[in-house]
Amino acid sequence: MAEKRKFQAIKGTRDLLPPETELWNRVEQTARQVFGTFGFGEIRLPIFEPTELFARSIGLDTDVVSKEMYSFEDRDETSVSLRPEATASVCRSFIEHGMHALPQPVKLYYTGPMFRRERPQKGRYRQFYQIGAEVLEALQPGLQDSAKNTGKDAAVDAEVIEMVMAFFAKIELDGVQLEINSIGCRECRPKYIELLRARLLEEKDKLGLDSQYRIDNNPLRVLDSKLESEQEIIATLPHINEHLCETCAKQYAEVKRQLAVREVSYKENWRLVRGLDYYMRTTFEITARGLGSQNAVCGGGRYDGLVEILGGMPTKGIGFAIGEDRLILSLEAAGKGHVAKGCDVYIAWMGEKAQDTAIHVARTLRQAGFRVELPPVEQKFGKALGQADRIGARHALILGDEEIASGKWTVKTLADSSQQKLTEAELAEFLRKHHGSPLRSADT
Ligand code: AMP
Repeated sequence: MAEKRKFQAIKGTRDLLPPETELWNRVEQTARQVFGTFGFGEIRLPIFEPTELFARSIGLDTDVVSKEMYSFEDRDETSVSLRPEATASVCRSFIEHGMHALPQPVKLYYTGPMFRRERPQKGRYRQFYQIGAEVLEALQPGLQDSAKNTGKDAAVDAEVIEMVMAFFAKIELDGVQLEINSIGCRECRPKYIELLRARLLEEKDKLGLDSQYRIDNNPLRVLDSKLESEQEIIATLPHINEHLCETCAKQYAEVKRQLAVREVSYKENWRLVRGLDYYMRTTFEITARGLGSQNAVCGGGRYDGLVEILGGMPTKGIGFAIGEDRLILSLEAAGKGHVAKGCDVYIAWMGEKAQDTAIHVARTLRQAGFRVELPPVEQKFGKALGQADRIGARHALILGDEEIASGKWTVKTLADSSQQKLTEAELAEFLRKHHGSPLRSADT
């Protein structure tokens, strides 16, 4: 006989189950609410796109594109990939739907799974979830990068950062730390990179293999290195903020000024560079507590020019992506992952008449927004109360012959075993008093 195969979720993927999914919903709901107050609308994007879209935007030399994408040939022999991030898709959509013709800027947010074939560990998965937002602004001809625009960009950057921080504050994420940097633009960055490369070549023998490889391919990424033996050398490398062009330096100073006005605390980190090619000027990363080595919960930055690389008109862009899995881990580690368990009312009924009444009352209470458990078969009251307790019910409504005959129902509060007799009308009032508004939400 053939052996029965036991299936398991693929390495790096996992099922999210109740009650934890309640927390996921609460986080997403809060993001929608906070982002809504900043005028952002939701965009829902496809899970897969042409491989070329990611290759062109993220860059062929990045780990994400060169090693981590799930790509496959479709039946028509085109290459498609599961999205490793969503910024490229948002830009593709901006172009496809002619969003440059809408009032500018266009402010969008998204939530959903991303796919990267990384080595799984705590806080790092192959299917993970991001909550992100982007602000895109098609440039009016003749207005490119004027001094006035630089101040405007800085305000947009600062507001986007303020929005993420407001979201983290609202969900009470612990130990949130914002780090910012400017990585220059097409004018000043290449000159800095040459300087960096020259310095790195002098130290080549003392660097690890990864960094040696990056000297040619992506020297900025050496600054990212966590390798202990390289730290001393990295500390001696030139800082990019000392090599910014005038426009970039002005913009960076204005971002910092505006963050202070918005009462957003930050730390500057000259080593903060982003893994993806398309970033420029403002970059930022946010870390939180309780996550070990994978403690970045959000990364973002400015990417003027990306829309143009993808075939659109000159457009400015800034955005961020929050790692939702890590956000949840951090909330749970801080004991803030508590989600309302169980139900409001467990209806213990005995007898056919009582069942009819129970079905009716369950419907009325559910319509009012209460969570009601109605056992499909009759149970002795002792057993029913035991079950109510196990599933975490707050109240048990006891309906037997006596209750049906008198119209006075027994309601037991499980926490303190107190009991009262209530009419149907009094019951709803009693529950409302105990549970507040029954329209419980992720919104509270
Ligand atoms: P990135 O798109 O690489 O800038 O990442 C933005 C955020 O997504 C990071 O700060 C992480 O919180 C999260 N993230 C990135 N890759 C993973 C992964 N493989 N597993 C879980 N979260 C991730």
